Amino acid sequence: MTTPQPLIDQFQRRITYLRLSVTDRCDLRCAYCMPERQQFLPRAEVLSLEEMHRMALGFIARGITKIRLTGGEPLVRRDMMDLVRAIGRKLGDGLEELTLTTNGTQLAQHSEALFEAGVRRINVSLDTLDRATFARLARRDSLPQVLEGIAAAKAAGLKVKINAVALKDINQAELPDLIAWAHGQGFDLTLIEVMPVGEVDEDRFDHYLPLSAVRDDLEQRWTLEPVDYRTGGPARYVRVAETGGRLGLITPLTNNFCEGCNRIRVTATGQLYACLGGNEQVDLREALRSDDPAARLDAALDTAMRIKPERHHFEIDRAGAAPAVSRHMSTTGG
Ligand code: SAM
Ligand code: SF4
Repeated sequence: MTTPQPLIDQFQRRITYLRLSVTDRCDLRCAYCMPERQQFLPRAEVLSLEEMHRMALGFIARGITKIRLTGGEPLVRRDMMDLVRAIGRKLGDGLEELTLTTNGTQLAQHSEALFEAGVRRINVSLDTLDRATFARLARRDSLPQVLEGIAAAKAAGLKVKINAVALKDINQAELPDLIAWAHGQGFDLTLIEVMPVGEVDEDRFDHYLPLSAVRDDLEQRWTLEPVDYRTGGPARYVRVAETGGRLGLITPLTNNFCEGCNRIRVTATGQLYACLGGNEQVDLREALRSDDPAARLDAALDTAMRIKPERHHFEIDRAGAAPAVSRHMSTTGG
């Protein structure tokens, strides 16, 4: 048997990081992410737990060392913890890190089991600490549940990073308080610019807030010290001298963050997207359901390496225009 080849794209980027969306369903309806009446996928189209596990093993054999489970909301999938445990068995045996991105609503129930399965760090999305703003933005009054979940994660020993989308007129004025709260809890916080992916009910351009403006504002009150810390992802980090905490800034629209891209994404139906901001895709479900799944999966991954684009093509300055990418973030997993 030949040794499986590492995943290297045509721009010599080595792909070691898989973001796997385990469901497109969610218990919240964040206004920038999906419309209130989101059409979810028929369950039959979604990969089974066994298929996701087999696929994960195929990726690990090709040199994927980090897997992030996401969604939709990963923790609303009923058999999710079985998948976490199954993939977690590969930790120390090819896989270096298993992590997830969650809205936090289900963390009170699952944090201990996540830790037991080998998860050590999680990202929790939280845009506001104001209950009314949360209820308006997520269209569900779930802030207390999320805060309880975050506390449970911390108590279980999980290292929490907070991700917040910066939104003009919604959480803009509150961002310093949110950052100070996170740092006070011992959590890093990363700010994200809103991206034009998927049709939603509102025009995101109305709330687009460039992080350069946020940074200028924060510099009026705090000292932001550059730090070298990099996670292999698109975030650039600074340390806030006054809080002692780390602040990440992800600026997909104002910067080109593609050069060092080491990741690919797979949807809950097994569609591999080579780029969050592009439509290049490969069908892994067809490969997984074929007569020779291992060989077909390998061939599909080789195709993915050939089509991964050099950079994304997002633009948000087209007010009222259709999104650059029509699928929702909840499909590709953000
Ligand atoms: N439900 C989980 C959560 O909210 O963390 C995981 C999936 S969610 C799609 C992943 C991340 O994408 C969240 O941090 C969310 O804020 C972000 N996101 C969703 N739509 C976005 C958009 N249009 N622009 C920027 N970030 C977005
Ligand atoms: Fe759900 Fe996450 Fe999208 Fe919010 S951002 S609607 S929590 S998938």
